[in-house]
Amino acid sequence: MANWRALDALSGNAAAGAAVKANAYGLGAGRVVEALASAGCRDFFVAHWSEVPALLPHASPAMIAVLHGPLTREEAAFARQTGVRPVINSLHQAAIWTQTGGGICHLMVDTGMSRLGLSMDDLADPLLRSLDIDICLSHLASADEDSALNLIQRDRFAQVRSTVAAKRYSLANSAGIALGADYHADITRPGIALYGGIVRPELEGRIAQVIRPEAALIQVRKLRPGDTVGYNALFTASRPMRVGTLSIGYADGYLRSWAGKGAFTHDGTIAPVIGRVSMDLTIVDLEALPQCREGDWLTAAYSLPESSRLTGLSQYELLTLLGERFSRQNGG
Ligand SMILES: *Cc1c(COP(=O)(O)O)cnc(C)c1O
Repeated sequence: MANWRALDALSGNAAAGAAVKANAYGLGAGRVVEALASAGCRDFFVAHWSEVPALLPHASPAMIAVLHGPLTREEAAFARQTGVRPVINSLHQAAIWTQTGGGICHLMVDTGMSRLGLSMDDLADPLLRSLDIDICLSHLASADEDSALNLIQRDRFAQVRSTVAAKRYSLANSAGIALGADYHADITRPGIALYGGIVRPELEGRIAQVIRPEAALIQVRKLRPGDTVGYNALFTASRPMRVGTLSIGYADGYLRSWAGKGAFTHDGTIAPVIGRVSMDLTIVDLEALPQCREGDWLTAAYSLPESSRLTGLSQYELLTLLGERFSRQNGG
């Protein structure tokens, strides 16, 4: 996968891992892990224990880290039985892991996000000394901005490194990679940029769009001036029009935010979305596409940075929204 190679190169001396949680941001975790493992990726991060089985056919268990960590003895037992590595986020999780037998784990430390991870005050706790830590990690809150918090977290992480003994250290997500060598440590954890997200200007031109949602044109019709389109008649034809109904809607993750803003293309020619997006259907103006017929497929204009600007949805939401009715296929 070209984006992973680019991010691995941008990570300098650090090796790029991959965040493949949420079904690899909706792209399909099994396929993504298979492709990245063959490209040389050796560290995969998911959030939930339930996400592990989809990865196991494609990556050795020791390469898989579960970010939410073990909350029950059953989860600790599952980790031990599969060989998957838990990320310990609290003294409570550290106690569960050691009491159920210990073993190699990862450790998350909170350096300024107040989300998951041990607080820096917890680091002196004797319980931590009994942990066998592979990766000690922390997560940046504002890496997509030029924020003073980045420097604060970088300095706190340096303190963590001098306090916590671990084999490897990891701080940067996609945006953190673009912040430069001070943030790279040993392992980076890109997610969104693997899938085409451009979360800092430094990534422009280096990260390629990955997804291209397509929808079938299932009906074509003619409108007379005054005819209205879709729920609540939000669009009225002011001239004779040829419009098409596409088999895609908000249940597929093509949200109502696209009304009046979205477009589909066929061989590069644009068909703007008109009227309200329905659950399963979206209507487009086919004026520029007189040759389009029922059964043709159109491609959504879905550049992640541009789509985010247009809809107000984040690039992360634009990916993870996409529903199960798409058949996910490898493109070129
Ligand atoms: C999701 C996640 C990542 C990946 O972040 P991106 O911004 O998508 O690159 C990295 N680390 C942790 C802990 C995460 O939860």
